[in-house]
Amino acid sequence: MRPDQRPMRRLPTLEARRDAFEKCVFCPKLCRTTCPVSNEEPRETLTPWGKMSMAYFSAHGDVDATESFASPAWACTGCRACTNACDHKNDVAGTLFDARSALVASGLAPKGAREVLDSFDAHVAKTDEATKKLAHETDARADARTHVVVGCEYVHHAPAAAADVMRASAALLGAPVALSRGCCGLPLLYAGDLARFARHAEAFASSLRDADHVLVADAGCAMALKKHYPAAGVTVNPKVELLVEAAARSLTRLAMLRTDVRVRYHDPCQLGRGLGIYEAPRAILTRILGKAPDEFDERRERATCSGAGGLLPRTMPETSKRIATSRAAEHRKLGGGLVITGCASSLRAFRNAGVDADDISTLLARSLA
Ligand code: SF4
Ligand code: SF4
Repeated sequence: MRPDQRPMRRLPTLEARRDAFEKCVFCPKLCRTTCPVSNEEPRETLTPWGKMSMAYFSAHGDVDATESFASPAWACTGCRACTNACDHKNDVAGTLFDARSALVASGLAPKGAREVLDSFDAHVAKTDEATKKLAHETDARADARTHVVVGCEYVHHAPAAAADVMRASAALLGAPVALSRGCCGLPLLYAGDLARFARHAEAFASSLRDADHVLVADAGCAMALKKHYPAAGVTVNPKVELLVEAAARSLTRLAMLRTDVRVRYHDPCQLGRGLGIYEAPRAILTRILGKAPDEFDERRERATCSGAGGLLPRTMPETSKRIATSRAAEHRKLGGGLVITGCASSLRAFRNAGVDADDISTLLARSLA
């Protein structure tokens, strides 16, 4: 029987992704140099082709049902660099997220992913507490018409940037804002529980139903609300907008900030390749700095991942650190200075790699003060 006629007997839910798998499995690996994971860990199974092939073979039952054959599905930051380089624009990240879910359902997941799933309820409770405190500190108003989704990575790991998101949002609108509590649920999707992600998304979307407008700071949360929720059958009714999109519409309100420091912009993968937003942050920085920001050699559609997405810091922490170290080295080679990004995971990765880094919300808050 031809390979494309065999049923996926072990992981049948992946039949819906057969076309995406087979594009990669039978491909001469045109995207192989683009993957941040296999560029740091030069193993064939960690190239986009290798990860897709391993999940395809697992789905058919051609390889043993073991963690070593399952884990390549988690060796992906979801950066979409391979998709950008692919002639078919094949959705490798989305397919691997589905593969994670099928593998988790069959009892196979790496330790880091299992830990995220097991501790998710505690994570939500902790995020609820932290957002309550942030709401109090930033004079958020529960009855305001605009709700701000700050993102749990900011709340837990960059609290000053989280407060800047709230200040920048209120200053931009010229009115109090409400702070949305809890987590959008993206860790569930990345860890590999699609059904639980869909249930959580439904509850989170319902918590936003009284808002007229939702402002989102973190590129990953925005990707969740705008792309992953609809893919899971969940609609967010109020208009969802990135804080950088709203700020880019009000450029004349942004004051110039004098600085002698070189400022380099890093395109977050979910903001750029995920949501197609490249101009808004550059327009904001150009206005605030009085000149265009410095750039990485690889930028916009070709920007290189900081290694912090897709749960890689939990499933392959050393590889994730090496990817961030490579970005830090590129930054220093280009003259160093301050890195500005728009994603809490990237912000954390750059800072952990010893780079002076800030979120674009921090510059917005200072510019609008
Ligand atoms: S993403 Fe595209 S280029 Fe890369 S292996 Fe798959 S089909 Fe080939
Ligand atoms: S989405 Fe990024 S990390 Fe994942 S396989 Fe493609 S290039 Fe690699």
